[in-house]
Amino acid sequence: MFEVSVEYTFAAGHALRGYKGKCENVHGHNYKVQLIICGEQLDSTGLLIDFGDVRKTIKVLVDRLDHRFLNDLEPFDKLNPSAENIAKYFCDELEPPVKERGLKIRAVTIWETDTTSATYRPM
Ligand SMILES: [Zn+2]
Repeated sequence: MFEVSVEYTFAAGHALRGYKGKCENVHGHNYKVQLIICGEQLDSTGLLIDFGDVRKTIKVLVDRLDHRFLNDLEPFDKLNPSAENIAKYFCDELEPPVKERGLKIRAVTIWETDTTSATYRPM
């Protein structure tokens, strides 16, 4: 099994509804998202998937969230914009184009700080 990973950073604001503590207030993070894609077969050039193609796919999502207040954007207008839910959002959105190439998403990790992250792995 081969794995490739691509990381991207973006800045966004959020507030956690119902959280008893300072994260209930509006604040921002310099988020980092990491996507890990896996598969068995390499193409004729020896690549699992072109990094440039992966970056292009993630960038569409990152551009939607970058410098925005996440609570204003679907699905986070209803779903709390926790790192866990953001990781699942990236995974759900990126799964169709990844599957189309016969590959799978191994995991999506969202870092809120250098030392705190949440990972979502599709079953
Ligand atoms: Zn936060």
